[in-house]
Amino acid sequence: MTVTRTRFTERRAPCGKLRGGEHYETRDDQGLTSDQMLFDCGCKVSREEYHDGSVEHIAVRHDGRLVSHETIGEHGA
Ligand SMILES: [Zn+2]
Repeated sequence: MTVTRTRFTERRAPCGKLRGGEHYETRDDQGLTSDQMLFDCGCKVSREEYHDGSVEHIAVRHDGRLVSHETIGEHGA
């Protein structure tokens, strides 16, 4: 399992503002990746791939409010 950490300067955070922050990409032994973006304001976006091919996407605002939580099936893609 490897984790790649990169700094970004400006991205749209779930609260709607352009913020800098850090992006973590984790890759497991089977090549599945998960991404986490931690914004300087405290907002958080994560995306995770699962073995069945679905992808979970979660966005949480800096005040702790869940902005979006969706699971996207990618069967047959
Ligand atoms: Zn924010």
